[in-house]
Amino acid sequence: MEPTIRHILSLSGGKDSAALAIYLRDRVAEMEYIFHDTGKELPETYDYIARLGDILGRDIVRTTPDDPFDHWLAVYGDMLPSNHRRWCTKMLKLKPFEAYVGDGPVINYVGLRADEARTGYISTKPNITAVYPFREDGLVRADIIRILEESGLGLPAYMHWGRSRSGCFFCFYQQKIEWVRLKRKYPELYEEAKVYEARSAESTQGFTWAQNESLEELERPERVAEIEKNWARDQERRRKLRSDLPLAAVLADADVEPEEREGCLICSL
Ligand code: SF4
Repeated sequence: MEPTIRHILSLSGGKDSAALAIYLRDRVAEMEYIFHDTGKELPETYDYIARLGDILGRDIVRTTPDDPFDHWLAVYGDMLPSNHRRWCTKMLKLKPFEAYVGDGPVINYVGLRADEARTGYISTKPNITAVYPFREDGLVRADIIRILEESGLGLPAYMHWGRSRSGCFFCFYQQKIEWVRLKRKYPELYEEAKVYEARSAESTQGFTWAQNESLEELERPERVAEIEKNWARDQERRRKLRSDLPLAAVLADADVEPEEREGCLICSL
């Protein structure tokens, strides 16, 4: 007898995977919804996942890893994760995902949109087939916003205070302006990130979360002012660029996403 194919959708706490869950709610009845909780997510992410579960009318399984972030930080010699040392995604997201999936055939639904060129860091296990319904159906950012608004879920609340991505509060993919905002919104989380940085500095070559500066340097008032000034200038440049865009691109909100959209699909879709 052929093994049953399971259908799995990983939620990151981001808008695109949430919209995909709503989009497929009535099309894939046997869908399993999972959320890879690193234990270091933003408070808004937990709230968003809970509200999404209510809207779906389904349980969302948390694949919390047995060993938390602190354990793996010690295993990796207190070396902070980074773009080139992305042990966090592997140990806290991908491995728990693969353990949950097991060895049977699985279709994994991924929320990449038709208007983005991102490639992902996703599981390559041979029993897992990734599919991209938004891409296949030509859905772009404006469609995702509409799906979320119509469902009553809306955008994740962290986007309202200027954080662009889901994932760990200390994620190294965040922009410097997002560190500034994190400190303002959740000073205690900023302090926690500083503690990890100090711990790492003791046993490594002084790796930092943000590029080329420590969080202690980044939080100095003159540096904060500079980061905010640079960000405002960049926004102005993008606004100008937007006025040069073809109307179709403007309508699709093609330029609204932050330019830097790298990151792992499993963390930030
Ligand atoms: S959100 Fe960032 S820090 Fe957290 S697991 Fe993903 S890449 Fe690592």
